[in-house]
Amino acid sequence: MKLSSSSTSEQLEALYNISKALNSTLDVQEVLQTMLDMALEIFDADAGSVMLEAGGFLTIHVSSGLEDEIVEKTRQKLGVGIAGWVATTGEPLHLDGKVRDPRFTELVERGDSIASSLSVPIKVEQEIAGVLMIRRAGERTFDPGDLAFLVSVGDLAAVALQKARLFQAERRQRRLLELEHQKLSATFTSMADGVLVLDNKTRLLTHNNVAQQFLRPLVGDNLELFCEIYAESLESGQSEIVAGERLLKVVPTPLVADGEEGGSVLVLRDESASRELDRMKSEFLSMISHELKTPITTISAFLELLSHREFPRERQLHFLKICDEECRRLQSLIEQLLHLTRLEAGKFVLSTEKRDVGQLVRECLPAFSEPNPNHHFEIKEPFPQAVLEVDPTLLCQAITNLLSNAVKYSPSGGTIQISLEETPLTFVLSVSDEGVGIEAEKIKYVFEKFYRVDNSLTRETGGTGLGLANVKHIALAHSGRVWVESELGKGSTFYLELPKEPGGQ
Ligand code: ADP
Repeated sequence: MKLSSSSTSEQLEALYNISKALNSTLDVQEVLQTMLDMALEIFDADAGSVMLEAGGFLTIHVSSGLEDEIVEKTRQKLGVGIAGWVATTGEPLHLDGKVRDPRFTELVERGDSIASSLSVPIKVEQEIAGVLMIRRAGERTFDPGDLAFLVSVGDLAAVALQKARLFQAERRQRRLLELEHQKLSATFTSMADGVLVLDNKTRLLTHNNVAQQFLRPLVGDNLELFCEIYAESLESGQSEIVAGERLLKVVPTPLVADGEEGGSVLVLRDESASRELDRMKSEFLSMISHELKTPITTISAFLELLSHREFPRERQLHFLKICDEECRRLQSLIEQLLHLTRLEAGKFVLSTEKRDVGQLVRECLPAFSEPNPNHHFEIKEPFPQAVLEVDPTLLCQAITNLLSNAVKYSPSGGTIQISLEETPLTFVLSVSDEGVGIEAEKIKYVFEKFYRVDNSLTRETGGTGLGLANVKHIALAHSGRVWVESELGKGSTFYLELPKEPGGQ
């Protein structure tokens, strides 16, 4: 609609239409374009623009009837030019033809084609957000009353602009929140700890799968029941629970929003492994002091005996033999420890030579077969020819450790079978016994240093828990690997695999 005169009812109707159009969208660009289009139509103007302020400059955001180059290049400093003046003072401005007003002659560069222009500020919460400008070409100038009406249009636009901006900010915020939520839920589901979120009445709000898995032995799938139990135990300050094989540490974190209690997050941490490690460490300390003390006590007792009393030569030799054996035990323990430390630190230089692994096994065997008549040692002949670049001393130590364990952990005797199999890239040495075997869940620990399965046999037999750790590191030093298959009460088979080519499998 065009405004033929400045009649109030027509103006009101025009404002109503603008307001309706502006309310139909929440897109900032669309709001501005709608306002400009309607203003141009109402005032029968030829061109116009909406400039917005950012960082002390005004740039054109929407326009009509202006050359693209002008739209792109215009960057008006506040206080400079017509728009700069309007934005700085907050005053509307009506200029006709060549500008005669001395306030603007300095500021304004106007082509001859412009007959008249109206510029009004767009104020959002008392701040100037931009400037709406329309102009006519030729002879047609604006009426004096038009400026006040355009100010009202600018005010309407300001409200719509603010609404659209708020909406955009809220949408951005929502997107950020969504992203945060996604990140959180990814962490929540992928973390190794169990997590339960409770409301301020200790009712379960949500949980991750790990929590369910951890608590299943305790409450099945009824996690609400756990929350009830937990609520009771909260008073006793209990923070550790046993769930099946696991020892769980419960770490509660209260949620506080606006100073008010908003429930809590319970993190369930599986402490079993670190407890097992602690147990292994203290067991090792007591074991190592026992292992060191026993031979030293024996040696010093016999030496004291020999230095204080006369014995027949034969008795003397017997005592000295015992001392010698105890010294060897000590030596072997210290050597195992040193070996492992060096192997683990990677500071070990292999002293390799080409040796037949089968032959090495045959050389290690008599030290076991002769003193253990209860055991039947069986070599699964024929061994394939396995000439490899190996450190024979270390490899012998590994074989010895495996044979020694096979004997030690089959106290009732039985067959100990040694085989050497060829695969396309490797040779696999295996030592199997018919001894006590190892529980399935303990198998993963046996190659760890200082680990000894806790049973009556290991308590009775001497050992350091270092033998298999050494075997593992010797295999690794040869680019090989070790593993075990075992059945409780039936026996175990330990495998040592070595690559045919040094440095790879
Ligand atoms: P240890 O000095 O205790 O023998 P190892 O490192 O050689 O230490 O072995 C670690 C643990 O693995 C042993 O304490 C034992 O419980 C278990 N183990 C090793 N070999 C066997 C086997 N052949 N049969 C059953 N258990 C074994």
